[in-house]
Amino acid sequence: MKDLSVQLTAPNGRTWTQPTGLFINNEWVKSSNGYMITTINPTTEEEITSVYGATEDDINKAVAAARRALNDPAWRDLSGLDRGKMLNRLAQLIEENREILATIETIDNGKPYTVALDGDLVETAETIRYYSGFADKVFGQVIDTTSDKFAYTVREPVGVCGQIIPWNYPLAMAAWKLGPALACGNTVVLKPAEQTPLSALVLANLIVEAGFPPGVVNIVNGHGSITGSALASHMDVDKIAFTGSTDTAKRIMKMASVNLKNITLETGGKSPLIVFNDADLKEAVEWAHLGIMSNQGQVCCATSRILVQSQIYDQFLEAFKGQVKQVSKVGDPFEESTFQGPQVTKAQYDRVKSYVHIGQAERAKLIFGGKPINDIGNGKGFFIQPIIFADVTPQMRIFKEEVFGPFVVISRFDTEEDAIKMANDSTYGLGSAVFTTNLTRAHRIAKLIEAGTVWINSSNDGDWRVPFGGVKQSGIGRELGEAGLDAYSSIKAVHVNIKSKL
Ligand code: NAP
Ligand code: MG
Repeated sequence: MKDLSVQLTAPNGRTWTQPTGLFINNEWVKSSNGYMITTINPTTEEEITSVYGATEDDINKAVAAARRALNDPAWRDLSGLDRGKMLNRLAQLIEENREILATIETIDNGKPYTVALDGDLVETAETIRYYSGFADKVFGQVIDTTSDKFAYTVREPVGVCGQIIPWNYPLAMAAWKLGPALACGNTVVLKPAEQTPLSALVLANLIVEAGFPPGVVNIVNGHGSITGSALASHMDVDKIAFTGSTDTAKRIMKMASVNLKNITLETGGKSPLIVFNDADLKEAVEWAHLGIMSNQGQVCCATSRILVQSQIYDQFLEAFKGQVKQVSKVGDPFEESTFQGPQVTKAQYDRVKSYVHIGQAERAKLIFGGKPINDIGNGKGFFIQPIIFADVTPQMRIFKEEVFGPFVVISRFDTEEDAIKMANDSTYGLGSAVFTTNLTRAHRIAKLIEAGTVWINSSNDGDWRVPFGGVKQSGIGRELGEAGLDAYSSIKAVHVNIKSKL
């Protein structure tokens, strides 16, 4: 295999061969006109390397390769069992390369290495392994109709799938999309986010090593406006799966309409976390902290709105502030004690800062943080203190808009009815959490809350075995769990006449 690559070394001393090409048909190629994108280390603001980006011409080539592979007996006629074995091998290879892959996530995204290693990489390998087990279990039904006939259904791949992913969990997001797509026999053109283009290219080499035939998986970097839109509007792509912002999802939906593509969209949120008077306060505080401050707050289902019942409001504020002070250590992501690394880009960092100003202008009470930090490493990097606003009311922008950073708003409520009303007062509906020791109340709330996920007495402890997705403007369709297979298979009905009268 012709390799376009550079040798890179991370601050933790690890060295690896970083592919820089477009991965099309199991080969590394340059872009048709030399188009490249540069990726920055958010800890140092230094350039890591440049990689090729895909032009419309390149997307045509990638889609053609995926189409050929879809109809090639080497993939089309492969049994589910063998597809599963390949996926299982891939999961194993990801585990074997876990340290390098986690290193790349940390250098490119800024997330703490311990989180990348024990969180992202475990999730990536286990998601692929989970779907490997489904590859030979995607089948249809026999449907008895009349004595003259019966019908059966088969589950076929949807076809060539375009997958557009974000930068907050680069490899895990790739796994969420590749796992079910490949288990169901589809072929894929995957576009990583321009901010974190590196790890998916290393994964590409593992895909070859796992034995996937040429064209089954193609990975092409590039900007959303160029590469992403060429993929979303391509006439020979059957499906688009997207994770990112609601605004981009709306644009993708429009582009996907050109040939009535099948779509799944997973977008943002402003997920509520409700704490009742009877909650275990210590548990609520610890989960509430993790629910918004992990991954630098860059989590689509982060519980970014905390609603606390009046009687314990002041006590919660004090304890939550204490937790942030004690646990949210901001620092070099390669330091083991670091909880929060830099924001992924200058743009995200500026966005978080701008919401501090918005909150102050709205007269919400800033009770913690919000200041830039420049005494880490070389004095550069997109580091910011975590931010807590209290006494936030539903009219405020900081109550409504997704910030996507270590930024939380805390509001007070009196009755259960108020809590539900405030929780549902959002255009989004992705995650939600409720803290109470009252069993019936917990399930009552779970039923009434408008969200794709409800956590009872926890937050953001997602699991690849459990379906994930949103209602309202948080998305369309589900990923993960068995439900994730529905997005990647299409049902064909076959009617069988067993008593022909002709
Ligand atoms: P974004 O624009 O929605 O990016 C997500 C993916 O879509 C990236 O791969 C992006 O490519 C691609 N894309 C962008 N414009 C496109 C277009 N016109 N056609 C096709 N693909 C396109 O998100 P962002 O700009 O990185 O972040 C902005 C906000 O999105 C955040 O502040 C946050 O609110 C939200 N977000 C949500 C999630 C989530 O998990 N739900 C993840 C990340 C961000 P490029 O990156 O190459 O432009
Ligand atoms: Mg980067």
